[in-house]
Amino acid sequence: MGKQSSNRKIAEEVIRFLDKHMLDPTPANYAFAFLYITESNGLLRKLVNDITDGGVRLTQGEVDDMMTNTADGAADDTAAIPSDAMDDIQKQLRHQALTFTELTTAALSDASTFNRDLAEGMEQIAAGFDFAGVISAMRQKTAEVERKLAETKKETEKLRLDLDAARNDASRDALTSLSNRRAMDEKIEEAFRKSARITIAFCDIDHFKSVNDRFGHAVGDRVLKAVADILQTGLAPYPVARFGGEEFVALFPDMAEAEAFGLIEQARVTVSEKFFRLRDTDAPLGQVTFSAGIASTTSNPEQALQDADKALYEAKSSGRNRTIIAS
Ligand code: GH3
Ligand code: MG
Ligand code: MG
Repeated sequence: MGKQSSNRKIAEEVIRFLDKHMLDPTPANYAFAFLYITESNGLLRKLVNDITDGGVRLTQGEVDDMMTNTADGAADDTAAIPSDAMDDIQKQLRHQALTFTELTTAALSDASTFNRDLAEGMEQIAAGFDFAGVISAMRQKTAEVERKLAETKKETEKLRLDLDAARNDASRDALTSLSNRRAMDEKIEEAFRKSARITIAFCDIDHFKSVNDRFGHAVGDRVLKAVADILQTGLAPYPVARFGGEEFVALFPDMAEAEAFGLIEQARVTVSEKFFRLRDTDAPLGQVTFSAGIASTTSNPEQALQDADKALYEAKSSGRNRTIIAS
Protein backbone atom coordinates (compact mmCIF):
# COMPACT_ATOMS: atom_id res chain seq x y z
CA MET A 1 0.00 0.00 0.00
CA GLY A 2 1.32 3.45 -0.90
CA LYS A 3 2.03 5.94 1.80
CA GLN A 4 -0.80 8.21 0.74
CA SER A 5 -3.46 5.52 0.77
CA SER A 6 -2.22 4.24 4.13
CA ASN A 7 -2.51 7.80 5.50
CA ARG A 8 -6.02 8.00 4.15
CA LYS A 9 -6.91 4.68 5.73
CA ILE A 10 -5.71 5.86 9.16
CA ALA A 11 -7.66 9.09 8.78
CA GLU A 12 -10.80 7.16 7.88
CA GLU A 13 -10.37 4.86 10.85
CA VAL A 14 -9.86 7.85 13.13
CA ILE A 15 -13.12 9.37 11.92
CA ARG A 16 -14.95 6.05 12.25
CA PHE A 17 -13.63 5.73 15.82
CA LEU A 18 -14.86 9.23 16.72
CA ASP A 19 -18.25 8.49 15.10
CA LYS A 20 -18.62 5.20 16.91
CA HIS A 21 -18.01 6.80 20.29
CA MET A 22 -19.96 9.93 19.37
CA LEU A 23 -16.98 12.10 20.25
CA ASP A 24 -16.76 15.66 18.95
CA PRO A 25 -14.15 16.21 16.22
CA THR A 26 -11.87 18.36 18.40
CA PRO A 27 -8.08 18.37 17.87
CA ALA A 28 -7.60 16.60 21.21
CA ASN A 29 -10.08 13.86 20.25
CA TYR A 30 -8.40 13.45 16.86
CA ALA A 31 -5.05 13.06 18.58
CA PHE A 32 -6.56 10.56 20.98
CA ALA A 33 -8.16 8.50 18.18
CA PHE A 34 -4.97 8.71 16.14
CA LEU A 35 -3.01 7.27 19.07
CA TYR A 36 -5.55 4.53 19.50
CA ILE A 37 -5.63 3.57 15.82
CA THR A 38 -1.90 3.65 15.14
CA GLU A 39 -0.60 2.03 18.35
CA SER A 40 -2.21 -1.29 17.60
CA ASN A 41 -0.64 -3.05 20.61
CA GLY A 42 -0.15 0.04 22.66
CA LEU A 43 -0.97 1.16 26.13
CA LEU A 44 -3.81 3.39 25.07
CA ARG A 45 -5.39 0.58 23.15
CA LYS A 46 -5.38 -1.51 26.31
CA LEU A 47 -6.92 1.24 28.42
CA VAL A 48 -9.61 1.89 25.83
CA ASN A 49 -10.30 -1.80 25.27
CA ASP A 50 -10.62 -2.35 29.02
CA ILE A 51 -13.26 0.35 29.19
CA THR A 52 -15.12 -0.58 26.01
CA ASP A 53 -15.11 -4.27 26.82
CA GLY A 54 -18.57 -5.53 25.98
CA GLY A 55 -19.22 -2.86 23.36
CA VAL A 56 -19.81 0.16 25.57
CA ARG A 57 -19.18 3.64 24.26
CA LEU A 58 -16.36 5.84 25.52
CA THR A 59 -17.47 9.02 27.21
CA GLN A 60 -15.75 12.36 26.67
CA GLY A 61 -14.88 12.27 30.36
CA GLU A 62 -13.00 9.04 29.95
CA VAL A 63 -11.16 10.35 26.94
CA ASP A 64 -10.21 13.49 28.88
CA ASP A 65 -9.16 11.31 31.81
CA MET A 66 -6.87 9.27 29.64
CA MET A 67 -5.45 12.40 28.06
CA THR A 68 -5.05 14.38 31.28
CA ASN A 69 -5.12 11.74 34.01
CA THR A 70 -7.40 13.79 36.26
CA ALA A 71 -8.77 11.25 38.66
CA ASP A 72 -11.99 13.10 39.48
CA GLY A 73 -12.92 14.46 36.07
CA ALA A 74 -15.05 11.66 34.74
CA ALA A 75 -18.74 11.32 35.43
CA ASP A 76 -18.06 7.70 36.25
CA ASP A 77 -14.78 7.28 38.07
CA THR A 78 -13.95 3.88 36.71
CA ALA A 79 -11.61 4.88 33.92
CA ALA A 80 -8.45 5.86 35.75
CA ILE A 81 -6.04 3.20 36.92
CA PRO A 82 -5.35 4.17 40.50
CA SER A 83 -1.89 3.01 41.41
CA ASP A 84 1.31 4.93 41.93
CA ALA A 85 3.10 2.99 39.21
CA MET A 86 0.28 3.47 36.74
CA ASP A 87 -0.15 7.11 37.74
CA ASP A 88 3.39 7.65 36.62
CA ILE A 89 2.89 5.76 33.40
CA GLN A 90 -0.29 7.67 32.68
CA LYS A 91 1.45 10.97 33.25
CA GLN A 92 4.07 9.92 30.75
CA LEU A 93 1.40 8.76 28.34
CA ARG A 94 -0.26 12.15 28.62
CA HIS A 95 3.05 13.75 27.87
CA GLN A 96 3.34 11.57 24.79
CA ALA A 97 -0.18 12.35 23.66
CA LEU A 98 0.73 16.04 23.89
CA THR A 99 3.93 15.39 21.95
CA PHE A 100 1.90 13.70 19.24
CA THR A 101 -0.52 16.62 19.16
CA GLU A 102 2.31 19.11 18.93
CA LEU A 103 4.01 17.17 16.17
CA THR A 104 0.79 16.85 14.23
CA THR A 105 0.01 20.53 14.64
CA ALA A 106 3.53 21.48 13.62
CA ALA A 107 3.37 19.22 10.57
CA LEU A 108 0.00 20.69 9.56
CA SER A 109 1.29 24.23 9.95
CA ASP A 110 4.39 23.38 7.92
CA ALA A 111 2.17 21.91 5.24
CA SER A 112 0.04 25.02 5.04
CA THR A 113 3.11 27.27 4.88
CA PHE A 114 4.36 25.02 2.14
CA ASN A 115 1.06 25.32 0.27
CA ARG A 116 1.09 29.09 0.60
CA ASP A 117 4.68 29.26 -0.61
CA LEU A 118 3.70 27.00 -3.45
CA ALA A 119 0.77 29.22 -4.39
CA GLU A 120 2.95 32.31 -4.29
CA GLY A 121 5.50 30.37 -6.26
CA MET A 122 2.98 29.72 -9.01
CA GLU A 123 2.46 33.46 -9.32
CA GLN A 124 6.16 34.17 -9.27
CA ILE A 125 7.08 31.28 -11.49
CA ALA A 126 8.19 33.60 -14.21
CA ALA A 127 10.47 35.38 -11.75
CA GLY A 128 12.34 32.13 -11.15
CA PHE A 129 10.87 31.08 -7.77
CA ASP A 130 13.08 28.70 -5.76
CA PHE A 131 10.93 25.54 -5.88
CA ALA A 132 13.82 23.24 -5.12
CA GLY A 133 14.63 25.22 -1.98
CA VAL A 134 11.06 25.06 -0.64
CA ILE A 135 10.72 21.37 -1.39
CA SER A 136 14.04 20.52 0.21
CA ALA A 137 13.10 22.51 3.34
CA MET A 138 9.78 20.72 3.46
CA ARG A 139 11.45 17.33 3.14
CA GLN A 140 13.82 18.20 5.94
CA LYS A 141 10.89 19.14 8.17
CA THR A 142 9.08 15.93 7.30
CA ALA A 143 12.12 13.85 8.10
CA GLU A 144 12.43 15.62 11.44
CA VAL A 145 8.78 15.00 12.32
CA GLU A 146 9.14 11.36 11.31
CA ARG A 147 12.20 10.95 13.47
CA LYS A 148 10.42 12.50 16.47
CA LEU A 149 7.37 10.32 15.91
CA ALA A 150 9.56 7.22 15.78
CA GLU A 151 11.21 8.26 19.03
CA THR A 152 7.86 8.81 20.71
CA LYS A 153 6.66 5.47 19.44
CA LYS A 154 9.67 3.76 20.97
CA GLU A 155 8.96 5.43 24.31
CA THR A 156 5.33 4.37 24.11
CA GLU A 157 6.39 0.79 23.54
CA LYS A 158 8.58 0.94 26.63
CA LEU A 159 5.70 2.37 28.65
CA ARG A 160 3.52 -0.49 27.48
CA LEU A 161 6.05 -2.96 28.85
CA ASP A 162 6.23 -1.00 32.11
CA LEU A 163 2.46 -1.14 32.38
CA ASP A 164 2.47 -4.89 31.81
CA ALA A 165 5.07 -5.21 34.54
CA ALA A 166 2.97 -3.08 36.88
CA ARG A 167 -0.10 -5.17 36.08
CA ASN A 168 1.70 -8.41 36.72
CA ASP A 169 3.11 -7.12 39.96
CA ALA A 170 2.51 -9.95 42.42
CA SER A 171 1.61 -7.52 45.19
CA ARG A 172 -1.16 -5.79 43.27
CA ASP A 173 -4.78 -6.65 42.61
CA ALA A 174 -5.32 -6.71 38.84
CA LEU A 175 -8.89 -5.36 38.79
CA THR A 176 -8.49 -2.36 41.08
CA SER A 177 -4.68 -1.91 40.99
CA LEU A 178 -4.77 -1.65 44.76
CA SER A 179 -2.38 -3.67 46.91
CA ASN A 180 -3.56 -7.21 47.44
CA ARG A 181 -3.97 -9.04 50.73
CA ARG A 182 -0.44 -10.39 50.75
CA ALA A 183 1.04 -6.92 50.29
CA MET A 184 -1.24 -5.49 52.99
CA ASP A 185 -0.23 -8.22 55.44
CA GLU A 186 3.38 -7.15 54.90
CA LYS A 187 2.52 -3.48 55.29
CA ILE A 188 0.70 -4.19 58.53
CA GLU A 189 3.69 -6.12 59.89
CA GLU A 190 6.09 -3.39 58.90
CA ALA A 191 3.90 -0.62 60.34
CA PHE A 192 3.54 -2.61 63.55
CA ARG A 193 7.35 -2.89 63.86
CA LYS A 194 7.81 0.82 63.31
CA SER A 195 4.85 2.34 65.13
CA ALA A 196 3.69 2.32 68.72
CA ARG A 197 0.15 1.74 67.56
CA ILE A 198 -1.68 0.87 64.36
CA THR A 199 -5.34 1.23 63.44
CA ILE A 200 -7.00 -0.99 60.87
CA ALA A 201 -10.28 -0.51 59.00
CA PHE A 202 -12.18 -3.33 57.33
CA CYS A 203 -14.66 -2.20 54.65
CA ASP A 204 -17.15 -4.40 52.81
CA ILE A 205 -19.58 -3.33 50.10
CA ASP A 206 -23.22 -3.80 51.14
CA HIS A 207 -25.40 -6.27 49.23
CA PHE A 208 -22.82 -6.42 46.50
CA LYS A 209 -24.14 -9.73 45.29
CA SER A 210 -27.31 -7.95 44.28
CA VAL A 211 -25.34 -5.57 42.00
CA ASN A 212 -23.96 -8.62 40.19
CA ASP A 213 -27.36 -10.30 40.13
CA ARG A 214 -29.16 -7.28 38.72
CA PHE A 215 -26.57 -5.89 36.30
CA GLY A 216 -24.03 -8.62 35.67
CA HIS A 217 -20.46 -9.26 36.70
CA ALA A 218 -18.87 -6.67 34.38
CA VAL A 219 -20.89 -3.88 35.97
CA GLY A 220 -20.04 -5.32 39.40
CA ASP A 221 -16.37 -5.12 38.46
CA ARG A 222 -16.69 -1.47 37.51
CA VAL A 223 -18.44 -0.68 40.78
CA LEU A 224 -15.60 -2.42 42.62
CA LYS A 225 -13.07 -0.29 40.75
CA ALA A 226 -14.97 2.91 41.49
CA VAL A 227 -15.22 2.13 45.21
CA ALA A 228 -11.52 1.20 45.24
CA ASP A 229 -10.74 4.55 43.62
CA ILE A 230 -12.72 6.53 46.17
CA LEU A 231 -11.09 4.69 49.06
CA GLN A 232 -7.61 5.16 47.65
CA THR A 233 -8.08 8.83 46.84
CA GLY A 234 -10.01 9.62 50.01
CA LEU A 235 -7.65 7.84 52.38
CA ALA A 236 -4.36 8.80 50.73
CA PRO A 237 -1.57 8.74 51.83
CA TYR A 238 -2.69 5.79 53.97
CA PRO A 239 -2.53 2.43 52.18
CA VAL A 240 -5.67 0.60 51.09
CA ALA A 241 -5.79 -2.98 49.84
CA ARG A 242 -8.36 -5.17 48.20
CA PHE A 243 -8.40 -7.88 50.82
CA GLY A 244 -10.85 -10.22 49.15
CA GLY A 245 -13.85 -10.11 46.76
CA GLU A 246 -15.59 -6.88 47.78
CA GLU A 247 -13.59 -6.27 50.93
CA PHE A 248 -11.00 -3.58 51.49
CA VAL A 249 -8.58 -2.99 54.34
CA ALA A 250 -7.03 0.37 55.18
CA LEU A 251 -4.05 0.86 57.47
CA PHE A 252 -3.42 3.90 59.67
CA PRO A 253 -0.07 3.74 61.48
CA ASP A 254 0.24 5.92 64.58
CA MET A 255 -3.36 7.00 64.42
CA ALA A 256 -6.12 6.77 67.00
CA GLU A 257 -9.38 5.05 66.09
CA ALA A 258 -11.40 8.27 66.28
CA GLU A 259 -9.30 9.93 63.59
CA ALA A 260 -9.42 6.88 61.32
CA PHE A 261 -13.16 6.80 61.91
CA GLY A 262 -13.42 10.35 60.51
CA LEU A 263 -11.50 9.40 57.34
CA ILE A 264 -13.47 6.21 56.73
CA GLU A 265 -16.76 8.02 57.33
CA GLN A 266 -15.84 10.63 54.70
CA ALA A 267 -15.12 7.90 52.16
CA ARG A 268 -18.30 6.08 53.14
CA VAL A 269 -20.41 9.20 52.57
CA THR A 270 -18.66 9.87 49.22
CA VAL A 271 -19.49 6.36 48.00
CA SER A 272 -23.08 6.51 49.25
CA GLU A 273 -23.65 9.85 47.50
CA LYS A 274 -22.05 8.84 44.21
CA PHE A 275 -24.48 8.53 41.35
CA PHE A 276 -23.68 5.19 39.75
CA ARG A 277 -25.17 4.60 36.32
CA LEU A 278 -24.92 2.16 33.46
CA ARG A 279 -22.60 3.42 30.75
CA ASP A 280 -24.73 2.48 27.80
CA THR A 281 -28.14 3.67 28.86
CA ASP A 282 -27.28 6.05 31.71
CA ALA A 283 -29.83 4.11 33.78
CA PRO A 284 -29.13 4.52 37.51
CA LEU A 285 -27.68 1.54 39.37
CA GLY A 286 -29.15 2.62 42.67
CA GLN A 287 -27.22 3.57 45.78
CA VAL A 288 -23.97 1.72 46.50
CA THR A 289 -22.80 1.67 50.12
CA PHE A 290 -20.25 -0.04 52.29
CA SER A 291 -19.98 -0.88 55.97
CA ALA A 292 -16.80 -0.66 57.99
CA GLY A 293 -15.26 -1.83 61.24
CA ILE A 294 -12.29 -0.18 62.92
CA ALA A 295 -9.88 -1.52 65.53
CA SER A 296 -6.57 -0.48 66.99
CA THR A 297 -3.67 -2.31 68.58
CA THR A 298 -0.41 -1.69 70.37
CA SER A 299 0.43 -5.37 70.77
CA ASN A 300 -1.19 -7.72 68.23
CA PRO A 301 -1.96 -6.83 64.59
CA GLU A 302 -3.71 -10.13 63.97
CA GLN A 303 -6.07 -9.37 66.85
CA ALA A 304 -6.73 -5.88 65.42
CA LEU A 305 -7.77 -7.43 62.09
CA GLN A 306 -10.11 -9.82 63.86
CA ASP A 307 -11.58 -7.03 65.99
CA ALA A 308 -12.10 -4.81 62.94
CA ASP A 309 -13.81 -7.71 61.18
CA LYS A 310 -16.06 -8.22 64.19
CA ALA A 311 -16.94 -4.51 64.27
CA LEU A 312 -17.72 -4.73 60.54
CA TYR A 313 -20.09 -7.59 61.26
CA GLU A 314 -21.83 -5.39 63.84
CA ALA A 315 -22.10 -2.59 61.28
CA LYS A 316 -23.74 -5.06 58.88
CA SER A 317 -26.18 -6.48 61.40
CA SER A 318 -27.19 -3.08 62.72
CA GLY A 319 -28.29 -1.79 59.32
CA ARG A 320 -25.20 -1.40 57.01
CA ASN A 321 -23.87 1.85 55.45
CA ARG A 322 -22.14 2.74 58.71
CA THR A 323 -18.80 2.53 60.52
CA ILE A 324 -18.35 0.98 63.93
CA ILE A 325 -15.29 1.12 66.20
CA ALA A 326 -14.51 -2.17 67.98
CA SER A 327 -15.42 -2.02 71.64
P1 GH3 B 1 -23.28 -7.98 52.59
O1 GH3 B 1 -23.94 -6.64 52.66
O2 GH3 B 1 -23.68 -8.86 53.71
O3 GH3 B 1 -21.80 -7.84 52.52
O4 GH3 B 1 -23.81 -8.68 51.25
P2 GH3 B 1 -22.98 -9.01 49.96
O5 GH3 B 1 -23.94 -9.40 48.89
O6 GH3 B 1 -22.08 -7.88 49.66
O7 GH3 B 1 -22.06 -10.18 50.46
P3 GH3 B 1 -21.85 -11.65 49.92
O8 GH3 B 1 -20.62 -12.12 50.65
O9 GH3 B 1 -23.08 -12.45 50.02
O10 GH3 B 1 -21.53 -11.49 48.39
C1 GH3 B 1 -20.35 -10.96 47.94
C2 GH3 B 1 -20.42 -10.97 46.46
O11 GH3 B 1 -19.28 -10.36 45.88
C3 GH3 B 1 -20.50 -12.35 45.88
C4 GH3 B 1 -19.51 -12.35 44.75
O12 GH3 B 1 -20.12 -12.80 43.58
C5 GH3 B 1 -19.14 -10.91 44.60
N1 GH3 B 1 -17.76 -10.73 44.15
C6 GH3 B 1 -16.63 -11.11 44.76
N2 GH3 B 1 -15.56 -10.77 44.03
C7 GH3 B 1 -16.03 -10.19 42.89
C8 GH3 B 1 -15.41 -9.62 41.74
O13 GH3 B 1 -14.18 -9.59 41.57
N3 GH3 B 1 -16.22 -9.10 40.78
C9 GH3 B 1 -17.56 -9.10 40.92
N4 GH3 B 1 -18.30 -8.55 39.96
N5 GH3 B 1 -18.18 -9.63 42.00
C10 GH3 B 1 -17.42 -10.16 42.97
MG1 MG C 1 -20.49 -7.42 50.98
MG1 MG D 1 -17.82 -9.70 51.81
